[in-house]
Amino acid sequence: MLVIAPHPDDETLCCAGYLQRAVRAGATVGVVWITAGDSFEIDAMLTERTLRPRSAGLEKLGLRRIAEGHAAADLLGVPRANQFLLGFPDRDIAELLQHPQAPALRSRYTGASAVPYSEALRPGDAYTGAALRASLQAVIDRFAPTIVLAPSLLDRHPDHSSSGALALELLRAGRPAAHLYFWIVHAGLDWPAPGGLHRNRALWPPRRAAALPWQQLPLDPAQEAGKLAALRAHRTQMEVMSRFLDAFVRTNEIYAPAP
Ligand SMILES: [Zn+2]
Repeated sequence: MLVIAPHPDDETLCCAGYLQRAVRAGATVGVVWITAGDSFEIDAMLTERTLRPRSAGLEKLGLRRIAEGHAAADLLGVPRANQFLLGFPDRDIAELLQHPQAPALRSRYTGASAVPYSEALRPGDAYTGAALRASLQAVIDRFAPTIVLAPSLLDRHPDHSSSGALALELLRAGRPAAHLYFWIVHAGLDWPAPGGLHRNRALWPPRRAAALPWQQLPLDPAQEAGKLAALRAHRTQMEVMSRFLDAFVRTNEIYAPAP
C-alpha cells in the first residue's frame, strides 16, 4: 500500500489509521512525499524567529519537515526504505503539471529550480512537470503498489488536487489493477469541525465532497493513539495549526474509491 502525500504531515492526517492496520495485517507499506513542505512562510517565521525568512530559511524548514515526516512514518510502521521524497516545490505542483514542457520553474520560496535535497529520489532534477511525472512514476514502478491512497481531486489545496489527478492518470495507464482510494484534508475552514482534539467523535465527510462514495475505516483506540503520536512528530506544524491537525484524530478515517 502506497500513500501519496503532497507534504510531510498529509500521510498522518489522511492515513495514519489505515497504515497501522495494513502493517498489522502484514502488508508492505510506503509513503511518497511530493514536496518537502518548504513554502510555509508563517511556519518559517516561527522556526527561524525572523519576520522575513530568507530562502535558506525555507530550505532549512524543508529539511526539518522531511525529518518530521520520517519520524511520523517510523511511528506508523513504514520502513525507511519505503519512505520516498521527491522534493518538488511546495505550492507549485499544479503549475508544474499544467505546463509539463515549460522550462524549469524557480520556487518563489526557496529560490531553487531543481530538487535541492540530497536524500530525494532524484536530487538535482529540474523543477519541470515532466521530471515530476517521471519521479512519481519511478516510485510507482519500484514499489508496485496494489493499493494507493491519494488526495481527492476535490481537495482545495492545489498541490493536493493536482497530485491526486497525476496519481489517477499514472495508475490508469500503468497499473490499472491497483485500487486507488482518495482522501481529503483541505475541504474549507469549517472542516473538520469542531477543531481540536475530539477522540471520541467520528469524522464525517465534508460538504464540498459529500457526493463521493465515502467508506468508513474505523480506528481502534491503539490506532488513534498511534495517529496522535505520529501527528505530534510534526512539531513545526503543531506549533502553527494544532487545532486543525488534531481534528483529524477521530474514531475513523474516510476514503472514497476512485471512479
Ligand atoms: Zn498537504
